[in-house]
Amino acid sequence: MCIMKRESGRMKLHRREERTDYLHKVLQRVVLKGRRLFSMKYECVCGYVYDESEGDPDNGIAPGTKWENVPDDYVCPVCGLGKDAFSEA
Ligand SMILES: [Zn+2]
Repeated sequence: MCIMKRESGRMKLHRREERTDYLHKVLQRVVLKGRRLFSMKYECVCGYVYDESEGDPDNGIAPGTKWENVPDDYVCPVCGLGKDAFSEA
């Protein structure tokens, strides 16, 4: 009787761990999908890509800065063209 109890207890624990693992995987997938949905990329005519999730720290643009919040005087770090030269990638 005692052993049975301990046995089922362990089974429950195991199952809970599996579920947590599954939820973790689902959550990871949602986060990845969300990142793709909410982080836009803009490509310059020269091929340089501005990724909103990465920003452009070298030019004072913090990671996560939306393209519309990038200053209008921002220029491509590669070719020096302005925001007009970028289009959605
Ligand atoms: Zn460029």
